[in-house]
Amino acid sequence: MSFDILLKGGVLPDGTHADIGLSGGEIAAVEAGIAAEAGETIDVSGHLVSPPFVDPHFHMDATLSYGRPRINASGTLLEGIALWGELKPVQTEEEIAARALDYCDWAASMGLLAIRSHVDTSDEDGLKGVRALLSVREQIRDYIDLQLVAFPQDGLYRAPNARKCTLEALDMGVDVVGGIPHFERTMADGRASVTELCEIAAARGLRVDMHCDESDDPQSRHIEQLVYETQRLGLHGRVAGSHLTSMHSMDNYYVSKLLPLMAEAQVAAIPNPLINITLQGRHDSYPKRRGMTRVREMLAHGIRVGFGQDCVLDPWYSLGTADLLDVAFMALHVGQMTSPAEMRRCYDMVTSESAAILGLDGYGLHKGAAASLVVLDASDPVEAIRLRADRLLVISKGQVIARRAKTPMQLTLPGRQKAIDRRF
Ligand SMILES: [Zn+2]
Repeated sequence: MSFDILLKGGVLPDGTHADIGLSGGEIAAVEAGIAAEAGETIDVSGHLVSPPFVDPHFHMDATLSYGRPRINASGTLLEGIALWGELKPVQTEEEIAARALDYCDWAASMGLLAIRSHVDTSDEDGLKGVRALLSVREQIRDYIDLQLVAFPQDGLYRAPNARKCTLEALDMGVDVVGGIPHFERTMADGRASVTELCEIAAARGLRVDMHCDESDDPQSRHIEQLVYETQRLGLHGRVAGSHLTSMHSMDNYYVSKLLPLMAEAQVAAIPNPLINITLQGRHDSYPKRRGMTRVREMLAHGIRVGFGQDCVLDPWYSLGTADLLDVAFMALHVGQMTSPAEMRRCYDMVTSESAAILGLDGYGLHKGAAASLVVLDASDPVEAIRLRADRLLVISKGQVIARRAKTPMQLTLPGRQKAIDRRF
């Protein structure tokens, strides 16, 4: 037997030591001590070999626009929304596509090989963001799976053309139905938007992913309607609520009713810890609420959770590096998920759990899966989070798309001259 590529000596996320043979764009063998010919044999001894990182929540139409036309001085959600309103009319389709492609280069270099991006469908300018990202989705399809969500960002009913443009975007090939019920004019409008958007998804056989209750308002309960519609329309396992930050502030008794209903309808949750921790609680003095939903409690109820990045260098967030390990690191801290099992779970929530939310085919490191993986300068998933470990090799769909040599810092102190890489 011969392989296109053979990786020797890697450590899988479950701690197993195994060689991995890749052939014809698929994983052809995962076992210890493979002795076979290969087009290229790569020594990955002692390094974590992981399935790719998956970002279940991103905004690629806004990314890398930091400073255009000005920066968000306060860093608040409301100034971010105002700034996006200023940027939308002045940015061109070409500009959006070029920035998105630059971002995808960053993502590829970080082993981030599947991204669900919302795209604004409430602009009144001929859906230029949708056209730009549909074109980018085609250009990167050989190395990144990009799933697009039709997102009426200014409100399905609140913005004049949003309903029409959202339907048009879905006709053009956008994959998922989005929404923003807490931004509609009234709670009643928000509820109605959830119902209508879920019905649209059911009729078209599409998944749903809504920005849902992204506020500190304990009375913002659109998640309840989203769960109800999922149940009513039989959309089990195909619906996600993004952010769900109001759940942080909700009455505990009410949450004890809500969590089992989410589990029953198999509605997934997508917290975005980097952005939630910076945007929420801005109206509080002290004590100041932390803007993350109840991840531990969700996991205890069997609710699927995937962590998203949301923003990189855009009107809402002035930082970001396309590193899902930053996301897991923040989630672990804010969510106080510090037991060994919980830290390990945080890694799943930026890889396999998010892949399941996206419904990705062929994801994983088993025989027959797509030949997509990332090799990290770490021994295991928790160490990868601790170090925000360097990526040494990225393979997508059978092709090596990024690689670097391991180059540890050399200490030059007298008597302590050695290489330091902070692995433990
Ligand atoms: Zn978002």
